[in-house]
Amino acid sequence: PTLRNPEEWCRSFSHFIAQCLIKDFETRPSVTHLLEHPFIKQAHGKEMALGQQLSTLICEQQDLGCKLKTKHERINTRKTLIIETSPDDDLVNLEFLDEETIIKHLSKRYDELQIYTYVGDILIALNPFQTLSIYSPQFSKLYHGVKRADNPPHIFATADAAYQGMVTFCKDQCIIISGESGAGKTESAHLIVQHLTFLGKANNRTLREKILQVNPLVEAFGNACTAINDNSSRFGKYLEMKFTPTGAVMGAKISEYLLEKSRVIKQATGEKNFHIFYYIYAGLYHQEKLKKYRLPDKKPPRYIENQHGKVMQDIVSSKLYKEQFDAIQDCFRIIGFTDEEVNSVYRILCAILNTGNIEFTAITSQHQTDKSEVPNVEALENAAALLCIGPEELTEALTSHCVVTRGETIIRTNTVDKATDVRDAMSKALYGRLFSWIVNRINALLHVAESGMNVGILDIFGFENFKKNSFEQLCINIANEQIQFYFNQHIFALEQMEYQSEGVDASLVEYEDNRPILDMFLQKPMGLLSLLDEESRFPQATDQTLVDKFEDNLRYKYFWRPKRFELCFGIQHYAGKVLYNVNGFLEKNRDTLPADIVVVLRTSENKLLQQLFSSPLTKTGRCQRLVIKVLIIPVTFFAPPPSLCFVSSLRWQYSLMDLLSKMVVGQPHFVRCIKPNDDRQALRFFKERVMVQLRYTGILETVNIRRQGYSHRILFEEFVNRYYYLAFRAHQMPDSSKENAVAILERAKLENWVLGKTKVFLKYYHVEQLNLLLREL
Ligand code: ATP
Ligand code: MG
Repeated sequence: PTLRNPEEWCRSFSHFIAQCLIKDFETRPSVTHLLEHPFIKQAHGKEMALGQQLSTLICEQQDLGCKLKTKHERINTRKTLIIETSPDDDLVNLEFLDEETIIKHLSKRYDELQIYTYVGDILIALNPFQTLSIYSPQFSKLYHGVKRADNPPHIFATADAAYQGMVTFCKDQCIIISGESGAGKTESAHLIVQHLTFLGKANNRTLREKILQVNPLVEAFGNACTAINDNSSRFGKYLEMKFTPTGAVMGAKISEYLLEKSRVIKQATGEKNFHIFYYIYAGLYHQEKLKKYRLPDKKPPRYIENQHGKVMQDIVSSKLYKEQFDAIQDCFRIIGFTDEEVNSVYRILCAILNTGNIEFTAITSQHQTDKSEVPNVEALENAAALLCIGPEELTEALTSHCVVTRGETIIRTNTVDKATDVRDAMSKALYGRLFSWIVNRINALLHVAESGMNVGILDIFGFENFKKNSFEQLCINIANEQIQFYFNQHIFALEQMEYQSEGVDASLVEYEDNRPILDMFLQKPMGLLSLLDEESRFPQATDQTLVDKFEDNLRYKYFWRPKRFELCFGIQHYAGKVLYNVNGFLEKNRDTLPADIVVVLRTSENKLLQQLFSSPLTKTGRCQRLVIKVLIIPVTFFAPPPSLCFVSSLRWQYSLMDLLSKMVVGQPHFVRCIKPNDDRQALRFFKERVMVQLRYTGILETVNIRRQGYSHRILFEEFVNRYYYLAFRAHQMPDSSKENAVAILERAKLENWVLGKTKVFLKYYHVEQLNLLLREL
């Protein structure tokens, strides 16, 4: 390289440094890792003042090199893996405990690329914003049925704890991953599935491959780029991994919740539609199949056009989109979708894209001013052809509607605005039902028998606070309030209630109870969602009347109406203040699909489409399951008659209930994801930002309660049944008495346990010790 071309010089130089640094590292990913470093990337892109830039570059690289060398995964010259544990692996062990100390330790650990830390049995996961090589098969082997304290904290250890819990006690388990948008929940969920497939000895390669394809496939349809996260989940996902009684994985079942359908038709500034639309457009472009699927080739469809122009180039030149399209085709194939089914899915997606391009103009005649027509019939014909329905019937359903009065059917025309709404409602319905169908089909293809045990993994959309927040953010944030409430119930409330009723002396820990905020949302008939539903039923209601209604009725300190913004209201959530703009709230909540559209779609000759609209896709059995363990669920919830589920927020509420009912039957394990900075930069730990998240998730209180409390409380009878082998012979069959429980505890040489009136109270680490002893027998 010559100095005449500083850019080239910089590039070669940084390559050189990178090579030197990775010389004694075995793994190739380190090279990519270094070259992905923002500083080097920046150096490639710009001409810079060489001297200063290079010296900084060297410092940064040296610094990075040192950090890499000290990180806990090292491969020494004898090619054995060195794993180092450290006293601050579990914050509960710290001698001094306050926010500052916790932050100091987390920050130090993050610098050393120790992104995981325990708080007792809860795992804190800091987003590394870079690829780490701690998820290789060597690590899988390491986190397999060993004592937790023997290895540094890891997401695999949480998966292992759930797996061992399931196998040992024959009890369903549930891993709840929470954190704000972009904190790393979805990545964590993938890693858990990866490790569970390993632990479940999925020797059947086909089954293992199928299970591993589920997440990428569903996420292509349910994730999108937002202002916060390029791969943001726009739906809630509960994945149940199913196991035989001996712990062999036998399948998986996925439940989806509350897909943000409105994204199909409109995205906020700087955001995008669901990934699949870009993948399919780029993929078909490269396969020269745009014509076959009737997609325009000069300009991408309106639903995926971004606000900054030059979109065509952006989409078709993206290597990533093209590769992802190929990957999605593989996912479909591996999971077992037929070619016909995949083709139908593509046709519906392309039909949606064409539907978005249908325009309407007003026809003004002497008698009528509220009639509309379609000037660009090509888009309409394309959509109709892809959906296998007649173009005239579709035009009719979009531009007019039937009204039945006094037994007579009258046809009324639609204004341009109304026709546009109907068009968009059709696109949303098509996408929503297609998404549910894909999920149901995956479940059918992974043949899951209802018997056996399972580990459920919950990954929902994280808490959101944008510059402009709408109905979708409100729903997402209510779901997060609910998850926080569930966490609080489990970690604090139930625990403390039990100490009192069992007469156990343990100091109570104060925590921030978000129950009143949840009540404000969910109470009937005066909670925010009920008020919204009520207003949605009035045809004359406007967004202004809605926000006035909120103000008149919601007398809570968590609600306020800012003077400066007419159509806004604010909520003090557990995770911070959010200002919501009610513009479009009522329309989004009504989410109506005119009967005329359903009728025409039912005439389709496409089998899949017929299926989507033959009956409303309801989740069977929802109502029965909702009543389980009301104790943990706010009393304001109740099982709905299904016919009532016509507005979004109601459906939202019931969907949430369904989710909770699934969660509460399993033994919970919590993973708290934390975002160390908002710039998505590796190795940047912003103290303030982390502090806020620790505060609102109640981590300090959790450390306290885990230190002082007894997280496992087992009835004497159950305890003796589970562990009597540790102190008695198999044929002895001891009584399930308090005395025998004590005998087992003493024989196991456990310390610090206490006895209640009916239960043994154990620290979080005792159960692990007991299980290890059992396995050693
Ligand atoms: P949302 O609520 O918006 O769905 P999320 O919490 O699911 O957000 P993720 O999509 O899991 O967030 O993570 C955001 C990004 O952070 C990922 O795309 C990835 O780049 C990075 N990331 C998170 N966890 C890890 C990890 N363990 N290793 C490497 N990168 C990670
Ligand atoms: Mg996610």
